[in-house]
Amino acid sequence: MSTIEQEIKKRRTFGIIAHPDAGKTTLTEKLLLFGGAISTAGAVKSNKIDTATKSDWMEIEKQRGISVATSVMGFEYQGMKINLLDTPGHQDFAEDTYRTLTAVDSVVMVIDCVKGVEQQTEKLMEVCRMRNTPVICFINKLDREGRDPYDLLDEIEDKLAINVRPLTWPIGMGKTFKGVYNLFSKNLLLFKPSKQQLSAEGVEVKDLSDSILEEYTGDTLANQLREDVELIEGVYPEFDKTEYLNGQVAPVFFGSAVNSFGVKEMLDTFINIAPEPKGRETEEQAVEPTDKDFSGFVFKIHANMDPKHRNRIAFVRICSGKFERGNSYLNVRHEKKFRFSNATAFMAQDKETIDEAFPGDIVGLYDTGNLKIGDTLSQNNIGLFKGIPSFSPEIFREVINKDAMKTKQLDKGLNQLMDEGVAQLFTFEMGARKVVGVVGNLQFEVIQHRLKNEYGASCTFSPMNLYKACWISSKDKKKLDEFVKSKYRHIAKDKDGKLVFMAETKAWLQMVQDNFPDIEFHFTSEY
Ligand code: GDP
Repeated sequence: MSTIEQEIKKRRTFGIIAHPDAGKTTLTEKLLLFGGAISTAGAVKSNKIDTATKSDWMEIEKQRGISVATSVMGFEYQGMKINLLDTPGHQDFAEDTYRTLTAVDSVVMVIDCVKGVEQQTEKLMEVCRMRNTPVICFINKLDREGRDPYDLLDEIEDKLAINVRPLTWPIGMGKTFKGVYNLFSKNLLLFKPSKQQLSAEGVEVKDLSDSILEEYTGDTLANQLREDVELIEGVYPEFDKTEYLNGQVAPVFFGSAVNSFGVKEMLDTFINIAPEPKGRETEEQAVEPTDKDFSGFVFKIHANMDPKHRNRIAFVRICSGKFERGNSYLNVRHEKKFRFSNATAFMAQDKETIDEAFPGDIVGLYDTGNLKIGDTLSQNNIGLFKGIPSFSPEIFREVINKDAMKTKQLDKGLNQLMDEGVAQLFTFEMGARKVVGVVGNLQFEVIQHRLKNEYGASCTFSPMNLYKACWISSKDKKKLDEFVKSKYRHIAKDKDGKLVFMAETKAWLQMVQDNFPDIEFHFTSEY
């Protein structure tokens, strides 16, 4: 096996997603503790607050207690190199999450056992389904009086439209919660709860009929567990790894992240079943991780992390070959080679300079403005990687410049923030009015704040009566030209110069669609 093949076999790159407050940050921290990447809880700051990079816009998040950014954490566990990508849970920043999901090979979804499947969980699942991303569910907070485990499983199947297969089962719940039985490896590890450290003390039960179980859990819970296990093994078909890898069945784990219960069981199984780095497709060809030549794509850009240094970091997911620092790689969009002498890997809490990286890895490249979200970097021209769409936004406001002396700064700031994917900018053909489209209102505040603090530009936003921005195309160029001409007042261009139809109401859009059957209307920019 070549070095690259060995490195690929070792890697697992996954995203962790949840409705806010389900316990994503807590679970992340426990995974890092088990991986030995940190030694005490509390070391991982939620990406809600980040003291090391406390630029002003972080202050916004802090006040609101939401996470805006996505962070990457690498750690090792049982000889595997695991890359964990955290995502913002807040729905106003959903696009950031969607893009991050293009960079992972599988997903762990955290669900609160008291609240069950929440709104954001459903939306995130839809995105996973679009790509058949394998999903593992972690049902959290079993130390609380939550819903009945069987009900929760039914709800997941129902609301998330995926089959489930429990691989652990809770022993008790709330005050009586003792731990979980591992249905996958058929053993039981009883821990002492601990919020700070991982307790090494525990007892292993290999055989459920062993009376040692009673000693630890009491008669009622021991009997209940035996009954439950029998029932589950009878009702659910045996776990099928291939079905999981195809996104058809989600293995389910129960636990309490804050008490470190059920986390190791999930991690050990994850190592066993989660997919290796997968290939990706470009507009021109399929790219396999084992392909000799390096390739990767930019799924996130983080600018001005440190207000003193105007640098940006582009997050690149490596798809094939070996990345080597100092080499020049082709930016397929520019058709130009760039040299990347400053590359970082993301470890549990730090960034560190790296010399090489392999498929599945995420590298951070310092960039002065040449890279955009969706860009492909490669040794040779392989076309652009597919699958990084912009979604049609739902809320629109016109940008009003408040300081004519700072027009340049405003334009520059807007362009850079759009490159980062903070929102989408549409410029009307008529009058060059600039309109920002977002998924959630909070994005406007972030934009306004950052324009002021990072670029010295002032703007306000004026509400617009728009229903949707749809990208338009047609097989018949003449028909498209005619359409653009007849709807001139409603035509804009996105930041890449693609034509967009700005529809004012749903009914009107429907009417226009009916009247112009040769025009295709798209709700993502990828078509
Ligand atoms: P996130 O928004 O999904 O990242 O959620 P956090 O990890 O910040 O957790 C939200 C809240 O739930 C915090 O107050 C955590 O301490 C709490 N929490 C996390 N895991 C558990 C758990 O297993 N049991 C209980 N009772 N609370 C938990």
